Amino acid sequence: MTQYLLEADNLVKHFPVGRGGGFRQTNRPMIKAVDGVSFKLEAGTSLGLVGESGCGKTTTARLLLRLYDVTAGSIRFGGEEVQNATGKPLRAYRNQVQAVFQDPYSSLNPRMRVRDIVAEPLVAQGQMGRKELRDWVNELLSVVGLDANAAHRFPHEFSGGQRQRIAIARGLALRPRLVILDEPVSALDVSIRAQILNLLQDLQDKFNLSYVLIAHDLDVVAHMCDVIAVMYLGKIVEMGTADSISRAPAHPYTQALFSARLPARPDGRAARIKLSGEIPSPLNPPPGCHFHTRCPHVMARCRSAQPPLTTLPDGRIAACHLLGPA
Ligand code: SF4
Repeated sequence: MTQYLLEADNLVKHFPVGRGGGFRQTNRPMIKAVDGVSFKLEAGTSLGLVGESGCGKTTTARLLLRLYDVTAGSIRFGGEEVQNATGKPLRAYRNQVQAVFQDPYSSLNPRMRVRDIVAEPLVAQGQMGRKELRDWVNELLSVVGLDANAAHRFPHEFSGGQRQRIAIARGLALRPRLVILDEPVSALDVSIRAQILNLLQDLQDKFNLSYVLIAHDLDVVAHMCDVIAVMYLGKIVEMGTADSISRAPAHPYTQALFSARLPARPDGRAARIKLSGEIPSPLNPPPGCHFHTRCPHVMARCRSAQPPLTTLPDGRIAACHLLGPA
């Protein structure tokens, strides 16, 4: 039986809107940011979360990081439920799950030297002696491609790519098993994005890391990930191997999303699918299939019946009446 490092089961995160408290809280409208998301991640593999802004991928990441409490559902890590963990079990979980964020300019304290930035999570634990700490920081700087002199300098002395290397070194300080990568290269020059992505892949092999990657660049996700989950209005609408999803997306929303990265074809057979309309508000998602207001294949029943996630012959899952049982 496959042992999964991370299992999210029916995760829900609703945010109440507007003012009010006490019993009125239950009557307040809710933003359904994440609405029944499930996935599993094997150790040493990567899951990509994709979808337009507001689809719930960042909220999902924050639930995994325990920055938000879940409204419902469970998160299992190494077989243990952690969604309600507090105290020591929560600290232990947080040590094993780290994050690297988009902006290496604001994520590093400008007043701290690099050695202190990288060592800070370890100092907070107080379990390492000074020499052991210094050696580990130097090793971390080395594995992310910075020389030992970097330890004595300040963040502003480095380029954007180097700062992201520092942020990655810090993220690895506690020897995590899972790293949440939230748009890790989108703030960087195009010329150095590939270097950072290659570094992340090397580190994954070296430390058997698992990644949950959020990126709007679908080529980055397809290149980095084993599995891709496509989200729309808080739900996964399609999930499967990165290869199957990027080569032959099955759900109409995934097709539109992935077609947008194709160059328009001058022969008129452009494969690009233009979606009309804005993404609806998660405060009041459309009935039936949430995508029906923008779907080029919408049918009558799409407006009233929500399509279930069904397993397709190649093993992926998708939620669309065109793909499920008639
Ligand atoms: Fe489009 Fe209907 Fe499929 Fe939704 S269920 S994606 S509206 S065809």
